[in-house]
Amino acid sequence: MNWISNYVRPKINSLFSRREVPENLWTKCPECGTMLFHRELAENLNVCSTCDHHMNISPRDRFAALFDGGIFTEVEVPVPLADPLQFRDQKKYPDRMKAAQKATGEKEAMLVAEGEIARTPVVAAAQDFSFMAGSMGMYVGNAIIAAAERAVRLKCPLILFAAAGGARMQEGILSLMQMPRTTVAVQMLREAGLPYICILTHPTTGGVTASYAMLGDVQISEPNALICFAGPRVIEQTIREKLPEGFQRAEYLLDHGMLDRVTHRKAMREELVTILRMLMNQPPAIKGDLPAPEPRPVIDLPPPPTPEAVVENKAAE
Ligand SMILES: [Zn+2]
Repeated sequence: MNWISNYVRPKINSLFSRREVPENLWTKCPECGTMLFHRELAENLNVCSTCDHHMNISPRDRFAALFDGGIFTEVEVPVPLADPLQFRDQKKYPDRMKAAQKATGEKEAMLVAEGEIARTPVVAAAQDFSFMAGSMGMYVGNAIIAAAERAVRLKCPLILFAAAGGARMQEGILSLMQMPRTTVAVQMLREAGLPYICILTHPTTGGVTASYAMLGDVQISEPNALICFAGPRVIEQTIREKLPEGFQRAEYLLDHGMLDRVTHRKAMREELVTILRMLMNQPPAIKGDLPAPEPRPVIDLPPPPTPEAVVENKAAE
């Protein structure tokens, strides 16, 4: 032990050690492993530029890309009773909620907003997979009902982006009750003759697939999204058979008639504009602004008659 190794070396090391890069600047693509710079990834709507894998995107970022000029107004959702079952696994349910709220900056797993898409007023709801796996609890049920009621009131379509690991087990049977509740909400739209468009994202599973996520008038999915009730691993273990390639993925479901479209995230807005205007009986959208009118040619008019000329004319008559 001497002062050189105890004092001088750490000092020198701290001077020359590389500054640590904050972790959140880079995101690793879970599909191909490419390191993606956060700003480029955000510009690309969280789609991997190497393999086109569609990663989670927060409801706020999605709405910013969806609505005209990124402008939308949040629709208020009634907050349900917190932790009615006093549920506890390794952690208490309220503690899990607090951690999720802190990590995402959101109140709950669904965001509802109203705004315009290519001048068509719409209500949109988006599920947040990063919030407790987007699980459907009482709040999500309330959010879908609030969204449907708002759409009926404004006589406009409802667009829903689903992403969920299923029902929220911490709310037990109360979470399962959201399946019939949300089905009734979708029925409200149907009775009002308003379109309900469902966009399924990776992954949409469990009770969400078994209720509102599969009831759309138009069913769209993002590429390669896993959409299922029970996952492929569970099925494989149950039936003890190898499942076909791409089983329960968006393209497979499209081939088997479960979906209407598989659309890239960057083409989604355009596609929605077309579908919305068609279903709402509006003329097709005009791409970009109309050209400004050309200046009209100026015609040389004869100079106005002088007062003397007017008097002379009168005298001649
Ligand atoms: Zn990738």
